[in-house]
Amino acid sequence: MLARRVHQTMMEINLSALSHNLKQYQQQLKPGTRLMAMVKAFGYGSGSAEVASVLQFHQVDYLAVAYADEGVDLRKAGISLPVLVLNADEAAFETLVQYNLEPELFSFPVLQSFLHFLEQQALESYPVHLKLDTGMHRLGFESHDMPALKALLERYGNRIAVRSVFSHLAASEDPAEDAFTGQQAARFRENCHKIQEALGYPFIRHLSNSAAIFRLPALQFDMVRLGIGLYGVDSANTHQLSLKTVATLTTTIAQLRNVKAGETIGYNRRGQLSRDSVIATLRIGYADGYSRKLGNGNGKVWIKGQLAPVVGTVCMDMLMVDVTDIPGITENDLVEVFGPNLPVQQVAEWSGTIAYEILTAIGQRVKRVYV
Ligand code: PLP
Repeated sequence: MLARRVHQTMMEINLSALSHNLKQYQQQLKPGTRLMAMVKAFGYGSGSAEVASVLQFHQVDYLAVAYADEGVDLRKAGISLPVLVLNADEAAFETLVQYNLEPELFSFPVLQSFLHFLEQQALESYPVHLKLDTGMHRLGFESHDMPALKALLERYGNRIAVRSVFSHLAASEDPAEDAFTGQQAARFRENCHKIQEALGYPFIRHLSNSAAIFRLPALQFDMVRLGIGLYGVDSANTHQLSLKTVATLTTTIAQLRNVKAGETIGYNRRGQLSRDSVIATLRIGYADGYSRKLGNGNGKVWIKGQLAPVVGTVCMDMLMVDVTDIPGITENDLVEVFGPNLPVQQVAEWSGTIAYEILTAIGQRVKRVYV
């Protein structure tokens, strides 16, 4: 952890840990398999431009973001890798072309309006990615759409260059769902074949996210999409990959006080003290992404090698923890909210969610520091 001169809440991003994690997954790939890195949602909270610069240095094949504006941020930061935009709507088409971003086309209305747009702009062979729904039922063309899709591609296909065809797995981290995952893969293979017949030229096929890369190597196809694993979280809980922590969230103690048994702490008097206690007020709250669900003893923070439980409700900018049992605490002491000593997965479990949500919910005002 960084030596702290300032006391604000900070998220330290370890870019060499990120490079290490990338290598861990690259080692799982069959020869020739390409890698797309997911840097959507501000690089899973770690900063998309900084993360993308590292990925560009390591020559990953593709980046992916959710929305066009996220792609624009990458281009403005000097990222020249190809960028897939997963959820581009009509209003974003001009931006896509201006910044050389490649849309996911997932439905007939989106495909047709993009073809129309390209015609108006007199553009040909614009790089795009076709999304198939193989069972997730979120976005994408379904099996029964194939005849109409083939017809459309045969007629207007010259306006676009289909760089890839892909789908998303609903439960790749869950061995109990492997039969369903297998069905998704079979549908994917079959529909890719139909699109191939219509287009008559090769494209990249990709299906696997982080968990599938490791658990289901047979589904790597031509490229994989690596997300959470890059950021150090083993979403499949394999414990077989040696991933390193990328994001460490720290804050400090603003004030320490002794409070008598029977007194209460914080809003609505929810924190009831059954003993004389030492209470530390920390410089972090729900506006920083620390969920109110972690209040009232559900969450803990790491201070001087011990865990201190949250007392009472989490406030907007602060929260209180019980440090009675931790000796030698002083104001401005450093507190780890999650990181190498307190995994983000543990904090996620305490708040009834997944590490993805914790990482991507860290507030904008939390300064990111890169090491
Ligand atoms: N592909 C798509 C379409 C996604 O939406 C995501 C993440 O949400 C990923 C890949 C990456 O998944 P993971 O972070 O589990 O690797």
